[in-house]
Amino acid sequence: MEIKEAFTYDDILLEPQYSDIRTRADIRIGNMLRGNGPVISLRLPVIGSPMDTISEAAMGIAMWEEGAFTILHRYNTIENQCALVDEVLLAGANAGAAIGTSGDYLDRATALYDAGVRVLCVDVAHGHHVLVKETIKDLRNVFADSVHIMAGNVATLEGYNDVVNWGADSVRCNIGGGSICSTRVQTGHGVPGLHTIIDCAQSTSRKVPIIADGGIRNSGDIVKALAAGADFVMLGSLLSGTDETPGDTINTRHGKFKAYRGMASKDAQIEWRGKTASLEGIATTVPCKGGVGLVLADLERGIRSGFSYSGARNIKQLHEKARFVRQTASGRVESSTHILGR
Ligand code: IMP
Repeated sequence: MEIKEAFTYDDILLEPQYSDIRTRADIRIGNMLRGNGPVISLRLPVIGSPMDTISEAAMGIAMWEEGAFTILHRYNTIENQCALVDEVLLAGANAGAAIGTSGDYLDRATALYDAGVRVLCVDVAHGHHVLVKETIKDLRNVFADSVHIMAGNVATLEGYNDVVNWGADSVRCNIGGGSICSTRVQTGHGVPGLHTIIDCAQSTSRKVPIIADGGIRNSGDIVKALAAGADFVMLGSLLSGTDETPGDTINTRHGKFKAYRGMASKDAQIEWRGKTASLEGIATTVPCKGGVGLVLADLERGIRSGFSYSGARNIKQLHEKARFVRQTASGRVESSTHILGR
């Protein structure tokens, strides 16, 4: 049996290249979410995860104001999710909304559409699945080309190509890489996240955006994901603990914290379905970070600087120019701050 070698974020670095970009103001890091439905132009290539500790109305509004986007989570009643949509759209912002592939998903999709949503995210752990195929078909039958259908998650080129052929307008890529995810431990399945992006970017259907989802810890990882072929990144942990996340602040003698949890964690499953299936996530608390605008501003500075090191004025140029090197274990040590280890 031939076993492929697969790399992830810490295994590689981008080679710095000659740059003729005199100011970072000349760099555009934004992107357009295109396909069916209205084109959504974003100043930042960043989308918030549809998780109940990340994306409700406050996150939707703040992300839109910062030039990013969020998918409102589906772990609520149809009425509650539509109320979140209302709040976002009344405030003059825009957000997508997640649906599942079973039960009342079509009623949910219709109610969300009626509330004004034009980006529907078919949000399941294993997107290369017959239920996703059938759901996309149903959504197209009902809404034709008036909605953008985001679907996923997939881990392979074959998965990406199939989901694209089933009619998705964008694809969430990476299985098992999330910070709160235990899928690989629980099931033995997954592919190191950056490898999935490189793999999916080989597709001849490359006009369908690749969303690098899960395992992104800093602006360097965002630049690597984009350089590997992603068009957007989807963030959970990087947005967790911000003022705009749902949930109460927990005061402790070590400081203020907020909850962050995987949607397949025991806590989340008990709360939303009253029972558990396979446990593929964990629940934790993270330190409070302040407003999401501050987090995004910091990420933006790092991303702009990253584009400059590759001499790229925009994502398209980054895709064309990026050159990766593989780093060794010693390289990884050298790559992080290491004076304290001496
Ligand atoms: P993070 O940015 O590394 O924290 O990863 C967030 C991503 O993890 C989400 O966008 C989902 O794709 C994924 N995810 C969310 N909940 C779970 C879970 O319970 N198990 C596995 N993956 C999850």
